[in-house]
Amino acid sequence: MRLELKLALIGAISKIVIFLILFTIVQQMIDSLALRHTEKDLIKMKDKTMLTVRKIGIKSYLDAEQDSAFASYNILKDEYISIKLDSKVIPEQMTFTQEARIIEGEEFDYRILIYTFEIDHQLYTLEIGKNIQLIYSLDKTLKSISVSIILIVLLITILFDLGIFKYLLHPLNRTIIPKLKTVVNPETFNYSEIDSTTSDFVYLNTTINELMHKVNDILKTQRKFIGDVSHELFTPISVMQSKLDNVLVSEKLSSETERFIMDQQKQLMRLQHIIKALLLISRIGNDQYAKNDTVSLRELTDEIISDIEERALMSNITLENRIAEEITLLNVNRYLIYILLFNLVSNAIKYNKDGGYVKISHASDETNFFIIVEDNGIGIEAENLNLIFNRFKRIDTNKEEGQGLGLSIASSIVAFHDAKIEVLSAPGESSQFKICFPLKNIK
Ligand code: ADP
Repeated sequence: MRLELKLALIGAISKIVIFLILFTIVQQMIDSLALRHTEKDLIKMKDKTMLTVRKIGIKSYLDAEQDSAFASYNILKDEYISIKLDSKVIPEQMTFTQEARIIEGEEFDYRILIYTFEIDHQLYTLEIGKNIQLIYSLDKTLKSISVSIILIVLLITILFDLGIFKYLLHPLNRTIIPKLKTVVNPETFNYSEIDSTTSDFVYLNTTINELMHKVNDILKTQRKFIGDVSHELFTPISVMQSKLDNVLVSEKLSSETERFIMDQQKQLMRLQHIIKALLLISRIGNDQYAKNDTVSLRELTDEIISDIEERALMSNITLENRIAEEITLLNVNRYLIYILLFNLVSNAIKYNKDGGYVKISHASDETNFFIIVEDNGIGIEAENLNLIFNRFKRIDTNKEEGQGLGLSIASSIVAFHDAKIEVLSAPGESSQFKICFPLKNIK
């Protein structure tokens, strides 16, 4: 997940927690406010009632209700007042309660003020009730308004945070990450500085640049070492080989010695192959080849096929070239592209089955051009797909001669041309090597 999104998410979660706390507090405040407001109303009503009772006398209330009780309520039963004779109460007591009352056979919940008083040596209880539903209907409106306001504020702050994080992380997203994504070779790495006021990003960028410089230096030293060692070994091995050649032609040797010398020659030849391959990899890495050839892909692949045809024929393998005539590779090194495709076709024959096929074809999408070499041979197990490009890595060592350097050379050539190589395989059925060139290399 992107950092800016993560930060916004964490911000949103913390705000939601704050919102929930705020929501609970506001709810409780509204509840107690509504209750206090109602109680104040009830007290006012009680005062008014008592004033009237004292003015016009209690009898005028009770007469209508069999002399001992009086009750009145409004049409919706939102409020009610009752006065009744009650000899057991202590006068001048006022309490609040929340209880249900049955009015005309219907039960309602009321907030009730209970007041006791004495008139004409008689004790009475006055009850004034307000329907709870009525109290909380206002309460509900207030709550929904407060929730809406909090939600709107929450949304605005989340959006604001997203914008701020995007702006703050701009140097990371626009410069540092693209730099790292496109790194193929420390030599061609983008070592530019970044324009940012955030010191952490400047530090990160500088550290990455320094690290890439170090990696580049190490790789250069390593390539130089391999190149020097290979070069130094090449001459004595060639001398040994020609000396063995001379021994073979000039001396009268027993057949056993002859076989021994030929075995040694075979080993020397193997060594020479390895050294040549290492020299080639080191030269490619040191940019010792030009990239200014214009190559007809069809001609090149035809040439490879004619050079390797005999080997394919021996294994009863069909070679098929599906490259269109008009495709031209621009700004490449012909010699290296030849080696690259030759190695892939050679492997496709080497790791094939009797009667199999090898197909060379091409494809393209909006940004890339692909050269595809596929076969219906032994295939490669999924766990080995990433390993086969490593130097000296051989999976099927029972197969004929090989040093495990063919694909390593191929990947060096691909990197040298800013291209990519990928492999797909169904073990036991097929393999497909796909070289992906940027469209700028194709006409
Ligand atoms: P080598 O062929 O000398 O062993 P490579 O570097 O050319 O070395 O190949 C490395 C390994 O990748 C081979 O040992 C082989 O196991 C595997 N491989 C390469 N190409 C194919 C292919 N077309 N089909 C199956 N396996 C392959």
